[in-house]
Amino acid sequence: MSVRKLLRPGLRDFKPYQSARRIGGDGELWLNANESPFNPIGDASELSLNRYPEPQPEGLLQDYADYAGVTPSQLICCRGADEGIELLIRSFCVPGSDSILYCPPTYGMYQVSGALNGVSCKEVPLTADGQLDLKEIEAQLPGVKLLFLCRPNNPTGNCFREQDIRKVLELCTGRALVVLDEAYIEFCPEKTLCCWLKEYPELVILRTLSKAFSLAGIRCGFVLGSPELISILKSVIAPYPVPTPVCELARRALSEKAVARMREQVKLLCGLRDALFGALSTLPDLKAFPSEANFVLLESPRASCLFEFLSRQGIIVRKMAHPGQLRLSVGSQAECEQLISAISQWSQEPSYV
Ligand SMILES: *Cc1c(COP(=O)(O)O)cnc(C)c1O
Repeated sequence: MSVRKLLRPGLRDFKPYQSARRIGGDGELWLNANESPFNPIGDASELSLNRYPEPQPEGLLQDYADYAGVTPSQLICCRGADEGIELLIRSFCVPGSDSILYCPPTYGMYQVSGALNGVSCKEVPLTADGQLDLKEIEAQLPGVKLLFLCRPNNPTGNCFREQDIRKVLELCTGRALVVLDEAYIEFCPEKTLCCWLKEYPELVILRTLSKAFSLAGIRCGFVLGSPELISILKSVIAPYPVPTPVCELARRALSEKAVARMREQVKLLCGLRDALFGALSTLPDLKAFPSEANFVLLESPRASCLFEFLSRQGIIVRKMAHPGQLRLSVGSQAECEQLISAISQWSQEPSYV
């Protein structure tokens, strides 16, 4: 099946902007992009910041492809996974008629990007045990172009069953794309479904350097999919989405040594997360959700009170849309200890509001 037939009709034979870098050329004297010949900010930087960057830096694509175990033709680099979400919606959904589907509680940007693009949002809540409601997904599928599944899921922290994802992919064959958001996959790398990309042309995977790679500040993410899907996204994305310094820093983070260091940090964070989960589980009036990512969701009838208590101690956690739920990120060891001690203190003062 060609995913091209799922594209917005207006984009089926769309001619992308021919930027100077995209057209390219052969020579030494580059006078085709109205760039400045001078080094910026008096800096003799080797980064050639006076030049436009490559639209999709080849070296970076190769580095990430090697890291993810795919080929460079299966990925596009964008300004965070968030831009990937937006790019998919803009490419495939006709405003006012197509829908997207996601399963709350989940990452908030699917809804926001859908709404910003005039696309209606169908919500199929997770089951009581935090899994996909396959029957309801099937019932809601007509009119849906994109299905967003976050795994591990933000904010519940769990992974949906592999056989259920397979069922969703089978339901969507020829009808819709299944966007698997693997923003936290480094915290449970054995759960990645990257190796399914070859098997399912409707499968799209989102990745980011913002979480386990500690690079939220550079805004760098990737969309992985079939070469056909990727070439479509390359024609829709802004002409120069990867700034030269971002490319440079991302490539450093993908070096063998830096990836090994990231994996060590992930191990440390997973240990701290389990300790946080353990400590929370001993407290009355609190339910902590087991997590495979770098955060723990907790639920309490007195969550707002806990939120206020923590914020008075200068500890900022995330209030979730679902009343009674707070999401706690796993920080450094000292930060986790401070958090646990504050929550224990709160739970020993039940009258404290
Ligand atoms: C943080 C997050 C993102 C966004 O990642 P960026 O690359 O920083 O845009 C996407 N999906 C989920 C589930 C996230 O938690």
